[in-house]
Amino acid sequence: MKKIQRIALIGGTHGNELSGIYLVKKWLTQQTLKQWNSLDITARIVNPRACEQSVRYIETDLNREFGVADLADMTKSGYEALLAKKINIEFGPKGNSPYELLIDLHNTTSNMGACLMLQRKNAFTILLGGYVKHHMPHANIYFQDNVPEEKQNFLLTVAQQGVTVEVGPQPNSVLQQETLDLMEEMTRHILDFVELCNNDSSLEIPDEYDAFQYSENLHLPVDDKGQRKGLVSCLIDQKDFQAIEPGQVVMETFSGEKITWQGDYTAYPLFVNEAAYHKSHSAMTLSRKIVMSCRDYK
Ligand SMILES: [Zn+2]
Repeated sequence: MKKIQRIALIGGTHGNELSGIYLVKKWLTQQTLKQWNSLDITARIVNPRACEQSVRYIETDLNREFGVADLADMTKSGYEALLAKKINIEFGPKGNSPYELLIDLHNTTSNMGACLMLQRKNAFTILLGGYVKHHMPHANIYFQDNVPEEKQNFLLTVAQQGVTVEVGPQPNSVLQQETLDLMEEMTRHILDFVELCNNDSSLEIPDEYDAFQYSENLHLPVDDKGQRKGLVSCLIDQKDFQAIEPGQVVMETFSGEKITWQGDYTAYPLFVNEAAYHKSHSAMTLSRKIVMSCRDYK
């Protein structure tokens, strides 16, 4: 595996997700990054104005501004659109970045626990998932490498490779100790893994592990005026990564009609009732459980 030297550690992509912001601040203050002295880590809070106001973004979602066409579009001049271009200069350019890894720190209001979100399936991500799962058995490892290319407009795409640490449930603009601790623990494991790989040290990685694979999104029912007609069922709310069988109730209309999962596979929901997705009326994302084998890469 190619050695990874230059790493960007990013907090505050969303200004109201406090764990990443405070983890970066804490580690910069305490000079924690020196612990991985073989790595060249740049830690940064990337949307300071949104952080100051404790809002997700000022004008547009920064984490959707990194499409190749958007970065090249000089007519896009909103606050986050310009910020994305600046970040692309500092940590990119996308497609040709010297940063081998970008770790983007996020919170969710959904009950996802500590979730490692991986954009690709390759030796690095598969072994990283195994390493994190071995050291944090309660963590959820989620692959979204099958999300369509045109949706690959996340901030982490500016580097050669990116991973997201997504921890919840935590309300927006709130900092909770348990959530911060989980984020710190997972981020430490990621950096340890990179350093151990670089040093060709032996790694504690299981032969295989359970993970989740993105499958689709479920939306709340809306009327022709775009008003919601229902909500996520209490049987599902807060039950991220718990199995939903075909025919099981997932939502309910305000008139009491049950809406069932119509798929033909056992689904595992995440981002259930996520606050940030209110505009799209997203009810939840669904995934399938998969078993990842590390044998071929060890
Ligand atoms: Zn976020």
